[in-house]
Amino acid sequence: MATKFALHKIKVIMPDDTVFTFWFDGNGKITAGNGTFDSPVPNAFSLVQVKDCPSATPTCTSVCYVHNLEKAEAEVHGKYAHNSVTIRKILQNAIYRQATEFEFVHWIKKNNIREFRWHVSGDVFSKEYAKFVVSVCNLAPDVLFWIYTRSFNFVETLQEAPNLVVNLSADRDNYKKALEINRKYGVRICYLSLEGEIPKDLPKGSVIFPNYTLRGRDLPVPTEAPFWKQLTLKQKKMVCPPDFFGQSEKLRCGPCRKCMVH
Ligand code: SF4
Repeated sequence: MATKFALHKIKVIMPDDTVFTFWFDGNGKITAGNGTFDSPVPNAFSLVQVKDCPSATPTCTSVCYVHNLEKAEAEVHGKYAHNSVTIRKILQNAIYRQATEFEFVHWIKKNNIREFRWHVSGDVFSKEYAKFVVSVCNLAPDVLFWIYTRSFNFVETLQEAPNLVVNLSADRDNYKKALEINRKYGVRICYLSLEGEIPKDLPKGSVIFPNYTLRGRDLPVPTEAPFWKQLTLKQKKMVCPPDFFGQSEKLRCGPCRKCMVH
């Protein structure tokens, strides 16, 4: 079944009465503790792929799943573009920034969102934005936040929120650097395998995301996929289940917590 998407608009009214709008989004794969696969609840804040990913690599840029989403879900992608412009405006003004942090937290708490993902699309594009992310997390200590990032230079800042699970997005272009950061901060590596390559020294607790061409989800017997057959038992346990086998109520973030624990 196709992934379903969800959107919710919030308004932030500033002390000077200026109004900004933002969009939260969600989908069946990532809805986690709040919605279901068929009825996802918005639980993410997203930006634009590549343009908002200052450390995008040639590998991730070439196969980013958001390129397909941009065509198939133009409305959702339009909201990412809106967020991308608006967040930059509010980051320029300390009062606007703080009011937006409070409004994000207010909405998350009011809707009893238990697990919130930063960026179905996009990444941490500046130090100021990293601080914004950290502030929102710190203002909602009972909520679990998770993020995937190639912006390794902001990982130290992101580590300031104990309830934010940081995942390093790696591929063959930035793996060496990811391993350094993993060793320094103990944060997980999420490895995008483009052509079936898996680093021999991928640390325990890592997650493997197979590129579309490697997945078994469209085969009658997914485990017959050549990619799957070449994996060791240890590596098989690292693979993102919905990405390889296909999404469902059981195969999604929430029931699976590989990327959501420290
Ligand atoms: S491995 Fe699990 S937690 Fe991570 S993205 Fe896949 S389903 Fe979600």
